Amino acid sequence: MSPNRPRAVVCGAGGFIGGHLVKHLLNRGVHVIRAVDIKPLGDWFQITDGVENIPLDLKEKENCRIATSDADHVYQLAADMGGMGFIENNKALCMLNVLTSTNMLVAAQEAGVKRLFYASSACVYNAQKQTSPDVIALKESDTYPAMPEDGYGWEKLFSERMCRHFEEDFGLICRVARYHNVYGPHGTWTGGREKAPAAICRKVCAAKRSGVHEIDIWGDGRQTRSFMFIGDCLLGTERIMYSDIAEPVNLGSSELVTINQLVDIVEDIAGIRLKRRYNLSAPKGVNGRNSDNTMIQDRLGWQPSIRLRDGLEKTYRWIEMQMDQATVRQDAGLLEALSV
Ligand code: NAD
Repeated sequence: MSPNRPRAVVCGAGGFIGGHLVKHLLNRGVHVIRAVDIKPLGDWFQITDGVENIPLDLKEKENCRIATSDADHVYQLAADMGGMGFIENNKALCMLNVLTSTNMLVAAQEAGVKRLFYASSACVYNAQKQTSPDVIALKESDTYPAMPEDGYGWEKLFSERMCRHFEEDFGLICRVARYHNVYGPHGTWTGGREKAPAAICRKVCAAKRSGVHEIDIWGDGRQTRSFMFIGDCLLGTERIMYSDIAEPVNLGSSELVTINQLVDIVEDIAGIRLKRRYNLSAPKGVNGRNSDNTMIQDRLGWQPSIRLRDGLEKTYRWIEMQMDQATVRQDAGLLEALSV
């Protein structure tokens, strides 16, 4: 085995970003030895051949030891999470991710892992800097004084700091990216954990099919966000992992849109216009959030650049296909039921 070809482990590989990351790293010549997720293999979004794919609950330290054995690099993306509908209603579950983050760090250090990547989130940022849709993009120093998203954001912030102290005290090199809203094919698109881009693609597609040309929007549609396509997330993750950036760094698009503009784009893609109904009591998160990319641009000479319109086109087409397949499965089930 070439010493230049690190043996990598991806945790959370049954999920959206982790599933893509396994394939991306293999394409880039990294020797991915293991992919780990708590879900049974049948529920993984993507499974890659030639990699040891193992279901393990990484809240348990023994399982973290199994996951990290013989690894040079660890990508720690495992987390119980979802969109606003999930994280606002499951704060304790989100906080329990601290067991996974902690035990992975301990096991990685014991196993002599050389580098660990931790997937943090824009939810660590101080909520008071996100009260207006008319945003000033968040720079890395806007985290403190700490007032992150309750539950999910607090755990991410605590785990970021633990990464820092594992590096300072034990020499385990830790790289931390603050992901801002990642979307794309093979993500959660239904079931309650989906995020805004996937939920809106699904709702627009469903309205088109049903002929009921209406859409429910969470909030007043004026809240602002940026959304990063998975392709940029993978490139950024790899670059940050190999960088010398010891502090957490934003990894997000800086193309700011309102939720209404997001719906406009998806309607254009679908070739339809819908009547909008605003649900003001639904979870909607902060009023405005964007990624300030000064640090990543300065340090890596790179930042996410895939246009929202282009990424959404791919995402919409993939969700449309999932809905087609779900309809075929439903029809087959119905036919089978009728034939007995
Ligand atoms: P995801 O839910 O699709 O993937 C996370 C995976 O972790 C899931 O498959 C889940 O089963 C697994 N997992 C949860 N608990 C586990 C445990 N105890 N042991 C082993 N596996 C466990 O989410 P994603 O969108 O792929 O996100 C990946 C990472 O990026 C997460 O840490 C998330 O917090 C972070 N992040 C994502 C976004 C985004 O927009 N998708 C934004 C900010 C941060």
